[in-house]
Amino acid sequence: MGRYFSNIARGLGTALTGLRIVIAHLIRRKVTRQYPEPKDEYILPERARNRLYVNMDDCIGCDKCARACPVDCIEIETVKSVPGEDLGVTTRNAKKKSLWVTKFDIDMAKCCYCSLCVWPCPTECIVMTEVFEFSEPKRENLIYHFATMDAADAELHKENWKKWEAEATVLRSKQAAERAARVAEQQTASAPPSEVKPPPFAAKPGIKPPPFVAKPPQQPDNESDNNKTTE
Ligand code: SF4
Ligand code: SF4
Repeated sequence: MGRYFSNIARGLGTALTGLRIVIAHLIRRKVTRQYPEPKDEYILPERARNRLYVNMDDCIGCDKCARACPVDCIEIETVKSVPGEDLGVTTRNAKKKSLWVTKFDIDMAKCCYCSLCVWPCPTECIVMTEVFEFSEPKRENLIYHFATMDAADAELHKENWKKWEAEATVLRSKQAAERAARVAEQQTASAPPSEVKPPPFAAKPGIKPPPFVAKPPQQPDNESDNNKTTE
C-alpha cells in the first residue's frame, strides 16, 4: 500500500517538473525565429557557406578551384590565346590573362559547401555569397554556368589556336632543319683534312705479262769433273 502512494507522489512530482519548464518557456523571451518571415532578422555568420559565385572578369582559368574540389562539381574548359590577343588583366593583382575560359560550370546539387575551392583562387574571384535560398524543382537548374562566352566565340578561339599551333609547328620544324644543316656545315668545315691515298693499282688493259718459260737443266762440265777426280 505504501509503495502505491509513493508511486503516485513520484508521478505527480515528475508532472510538476515538466509543467514548471513549460511555464518558464511561456513567459521567457522567444529565441526561435519563424521561417521564412521576417527575413531582415537573419544575420548570417561571417564565414557562412552558401551559394558560390564566380566573377568571370577576374578568372584566369587556372583550374586550381576545380582541382581542390573533393566532389568534382566544378568543370572548367579553356582555350589558349594566340600571340597578339589582349585578354586584359585581373583586378586584384593585375595578372595578365592568357586563357579564354569557354566553360565554367558549378553543380551546386553536388556541392558540399566545404569552401575548399575558394581558398586557392589566386585572384579571389570565386566566393561564397550570402544567398542561401536557391532550391529548384529540377536538379539541372542547380548547375550554374558562369562562363560569359557564347558557343560561337568559343569555337572561333579554338580554331584560332589550332591554326596558330599548326603554323608554329611547321615553323619549328623548319628552324630545326636549318639548325641541323648549319651544325653539319660547321662540323664539315672544322674536320681535319683526310689522308691522300694512292689510287689502287690497275693493270693497263691490253698489256699482258710474258708467259713463263722453264729453263732446260744445265749439263755438268766434263773437264772440271775429271780434274777433281785426278786430285
Ligand atoms: S564548396 Fe567544396 S564542394 Fe562546393 S564547389 Fe567548392 S570545393 Fe567543391
Ligand atoms: S581558381 Fe579562381 S582563377 Fe583559377 S579557375 Fe578557379 S575561379 Fe578561376
